[in-house]
Amino acid sequence: MTPRDRIDGTDHTDGSAGDTAAETARLQGLLERLSLQEKVQLLTGRDFWNTWPIEKIGLRRILVSDGPSGVRGEVWDERSPSLNFPSATALSSSWDLDIATRYGAASAVEARRKGVDVILGPTINLHRSPLGGRHFEAFSEDPRLTADLAAAYVRGAQENGVGATPKHYVANDYETERFTSDTVIGERALRELYLLAFERAVVDAHAWLVMSAYNSINGVTATENDLLRRPLKTDWGFDGVVISDWTAVRSLASAAAEQDLVMPGPDGPWGDALVAAVRAGEIDEATIDRKVIRILRLAARVGALDGIEPAVAVPARVEDGLAFAREAAAAGSVLLKNDDQTLPLKAGALGSVAVIGHNALQARTQGGGSATVLPERVISPLEGIREALPGVDVRYSLGAVVQKGIAELPLEQIVNPATGEHGMLVRFLDAAGTELFREDRRATGLFYFGGDAPTTTADRLELSLDWTPRSTGTVQFGYSAVGRGRIFVDGVMLKEDVSEAVGMDLGASMLNPPSATVEVAAVAGTAVRLAIEFDLATADQSIPGLVSITAGLEADDSDPDGLIAAAVETAAASDVAIVVVGTNAQVESEGYDRENLDLPGRQDELVRAIVAANPRTIVVVNAGSPVLLPWRDEVPAVLLTYFGGQEYGHALADMLFGAVEPGGRLPTTWPKTMADVPVIDVTPKGGAVRYDEGIHIGYRAWLRSETEPAFAFGHGLGYTTWRIQAATATPVVSEGGIVTVTAEVTNTGQRRGKQVVQVYASRAASAVDRPVRWLVGFAPVVVEAGASTTVTIEVPTRAFADWSDGWNYEAGEFTLHVGSSVLDLPEAATVALV
Ligand code: BGC
Repeated sequence: MTPRDRIDGTDHTDGSAGDTAAETARLQGLLERLSLQEKVQLLTGRDFWNTWPIEKIGLRRILVSDGPSGVRGEVWDERSPSLNFPSATALSSSWDLDIATRYGAASAVEARRKGVDVILGPTINLHRSPLGGRHFEAFSEDPRLTADLAAAYVRGAQENGVGATPKHYVANDYETERFTSDTVIGERALRELYLLAFERAVVDAHAWLVMSAYNSINGVTATENDLLRRPLKTDWGFDGVVISDWTAVRSLASAAAEQDLVMPGPDGPWGDALVAAVRAGEIDEATIDRKVIRILRLAARVGALDGIEPAVAVPARVEDGLAFAREAAAAGSVLLKNDDQTLPLKAGALGSVAVIGHNALQARTQGGGSATVLPERVISPLEGIREALPGVDVRYSLGAVVQKGIAELPLEQIVNPATGEHGMLVRFLDAAGTELFREDRRATGLFYFGGDAPTTTADRLELSLDWTPRSTGTVQFGYSAVGRGRIFVDGVMLKEDVSEAVGMDLGASMLNPPSATVEVAAVAGTAVRLAIEFDLATADQSIPGLVSITAGLEADDSDPDGLIAAAVETAAASDVAIVVVGTNAQVESEGYDRENLDLPGRQDELVRAIVAANPRTIVVVNAGSPVLLPWRDEVPAVLLTYFGGQEYGHALADMLFGAVEPGGRLPTTWPKTMADVPVIDVTPKGGAVRYDEGIHIGYRAWLRSETEPAFAFGHGLGYTTWRIQAATATPVVSEGGIVTVTAEVTNTGQRRGKQVVQVYASRAASAVDRPVRWLVGFAPVVVEAGASTTVTIEVPTRAFADWSDGWNYEAGEFTLHVGSSVLDLPEAATVALV
């Protein structure tokens, strides 16, 4: 079954317009064999991640999984590891649709390996405010860039036979009060900005699913909202499944709307109530049938229906996932600053290198929340640098504590008392202490969200391990979880603690749990038995069955001055200092928004002290979204690497020592101060966040406020220099046409490099309120040293249209500015829209 374009303006809420007559007849035939109860059952999930199988029609379960920077699979368990790709912000910084397609394809290969039919991604909400907690998981503040990347990701996944799920539909650009908040937004901003990426993912890439959001839009919760009908299923001809965000369906009314599938299951507000509503004539059976057909169509596409060939039997693109993760991390890193060609470093000329920073050792390779995957192995910056510099004296110093809360104990330092192998013993016990279930784990962070563990029926959970410390000193051992737990050291209970969820949703207990610790006197080389007992009845199971607990150590922050002093000493005595600064697990995550844009802890002070001690200081920024860099004018080089995925350290070393160039350009404006940010608010007032700025978000708002950012949208250096000249554009165009923009791009430097040529439109005199300028096209080009190339960028006329009850094409002249960032546009050409 091949999805095809079918935009003819009619109301295809049954989605059948894309099917051939034979396909329609076949799905219809299956539908007719189902009773009303069977049909309704199919509309709510069987469990956390699966839909219901129906044997009599040859339908197996459909397995869905998060995403989007890797595919976790059915269980959240380190024994079933996943590839961890760089965060979405790194992907978008590549401005490279081929990388985005490969990213989707590599995710699909992972999905197939894990038996997953559908990836719950990409996340294509916008970077409306840098405080947005899931900023790292979304692409950009610009709708066009987001849209093109979204379509490319979806294509990559689906051409490998795995469904993609652009999410969260729509205007879900903040996390505070995320289950209930109402986004109040004008029709124009919705159409031109927030819906655009969904439109392209559906119309151009034929996404097989779309996920409806938790929030309301203009007073109606997303799962009941008419936006699911128009434009999604009507104007855009979406023929796939509207799957809900987890627990976002709260009413029967959503069944009468265009919501198709309720997740998770098996409980939910539809079920028997929906059967009764149909019997009572309150909801048409035809409404149910349309939803069922959509789910059957998805089943056919992913090969879940006996006797129907899947849309893609053999994946179209398969490549080495680890190599791709490494390449993508560099392609999406942005060289923000590089005075006097500080980078790349010549490895051969280095005798000693100081590597400084908590994140150099415990890097953030992904953001928190449902997007988390568990990679087999992560390459830290320190490891990557050491590996790239054999024979060089690489010295590490922590400098400043970044981690907050409990960090897991390293596998190589712990032994499972039952098996004698590296790991931790986990036992589920009943009230009498009888063991109901046991696991030998290879990590001390546990997350039960689906799977077989008896989280709802057992009385308590017991974790035990023998830890052999590497150094002597006092440490804080404990756990983080919501509920009542006890900490034992060498068989003696030292603490009982009861903690409550901070905040209201599953995000709180799962994503930002409080911790309890005791002091343990660690002696290097001497094993100590550590154990936690946790009462499951007290766990915050805001979703039944969901339990998370992490055992481990809190970071020692008792002597911050001493940490900085030690790092300064290391830096002063080294040829070069590489400082890795960044955020921690409690700054960037699903479930809550950020409070400020500061680097946590004393990292700003650390950077200033290091550069004072060694002017040859390179700062690497390990954050998924904008942070303030108040020392940026004082250091010679700043490299933004985002959350670099599991190959982070390798990719970083590749860039630092010049094997590859950082290929990224900013997909979002980076501010100097938080006060400068024109659109910042993410906190509902009276239950609503008002998008009063309309179409003016991101760089559009920065341009309008005439405030200078720290680093502009589109900015990024590489290891060479460029000239862009001789821009031309199709002189006259009419609605539906394409404007062809060309420019000559010359690599004026000493090495091959990548430039991202960007085209922005402006309109001198306009009857409508418009941004000062807005992105209408872009193209990454790779050019040899000294060579020139002509870049061609096609701009559809929709890029000039404004929405007012329909797309309006204002006739007249538009200027097209061509250059390498929104603030660096040396060239211009004009086009007349007639
Ligand atoms: C998130 C979704 C995710 C789902 C399943 C929700 O809380 O908002 O993005 O796909 O959980 O994990």
